[in-house]
Amino acid sequence: MSIIQHSNLLQNTERGLYCPAGDFYVDPKRPVKRAVITHAHSDHARWGCEHYLSSTAGEHLVRMRLSPDAEFDFLRYGETITHHGVKVTLFPAGHILGSAQVRLEHNGRVAVVAGDYKLGPDSTCASWEPVPCDLFVTESTFALPVYRWRDQTEIFAEVNAWWKASAEEDKCCLLYGYAVGKSQRLLAGLDASIGPIYTHGAVEKGVAAYRASGVELPETIYVGEVERKADFRGAMVVAVPSAHGTPWMRRFGKVSAAMASGWMMVRGTRRRRAADRGFVLSDHVDWATTLKAIELCDPEQVWVHHGYSAILARYLQSIGRDAVALDQAERRDENEDDEIDQAEANA
Ligand SMILES: [Zn+2]
Ligand SMILES: [Zn+2]
Repeated sequence: MSIIQHSNLLQNTERGLYCPAGDFYVDPKRPVKRAVITHAHSDHARWGCEHYLSSTAGEHLVRMRLSPDAEFDFLRYGETITHHGVKVTLFPAGHILGSAQVRLEHNGRVAVVAGDYKLGPDSTCASWEPVPCDLFVTESTFALPVYRWRDQTEIFAEVNAWWKASAEEDKCCLLYGYAVGKSQRLLAGLDASIGPIYTHGAVEKGVAAYRASGVELPETIYVGEVERKADFRGAMVVAVPSAHGTPWMRRFGKVSAAMASGWMMVRGTRRRRAADRGFVLSDHVDWATTLKAIELCDPEQVWVHHGYSAILARYLQSIGRDAVALDQAERRDENEDDEIDQAEANA
């Protein structure tokens, strides 16, 4: 294992990925002086750092999530800045609006921290692009062969068919997705001719940031601004999963509820959510696209974190790649996302 050869460029530390040459962290787990942030999700954009560097495309989202007292710098995709001799360039990660892969170059060596990423189309953010490198740091949230995503157009056709059928039965549809990223992607895929579209407060905040960033979304009505006795028959409500089963739901009358997530691939998850439907739609790479991304970037070494790290690293080793699992957990606890959602819903 040649983990040492990249050490001046990137190290895995208790506080997260650290670039010693530039003296900054990428998505630090704790407050640090200088942080490069791949995207606005709370497990990547942590509070309490003094200075943040992030993509221009994600500026509205990052500012929405972090303290206004911090210092920010924003960098366009493909633009390079040099910090203590380290060239830093951001490339689209295709995960959510503004999500970036961080390319670091020092002494002719290149490391790419992909953050969360996906390869499929998404009209709400720029598409992932391969960045050739010596060291590639990949997530592994869904890095098991069982995870295989279908084309999003098929999924959206199913979502709209479910909405239409429910509307014909005078039901209100509740569609659950994470507040930032998933919800806006869902909104962009809805057929607004079927009926009115409402949003939960946590979703609406994200919608405002997306609109301010120039992303086109269908017209939405914030549920908090309509009277409680409003008629929701035939409507679609996009909400966070933590809203399910709470008194907030009562106003909608007869409902059909669905969850959109990569976790819906696993039956047990669907049962536990107590939703009527599950749509498999993820903003992360599945097994096949994880491997495809690694092929396209063709690094000398792969570091794997955030999820099924050990399993993916072992598989990569079996096909002749130099791969290292940065964390030893066999699988990510799926409740992690719920906790994030809970925090968002309460914010
Ligand atoms: Zn994310
Ligand atoms: Zn993440």
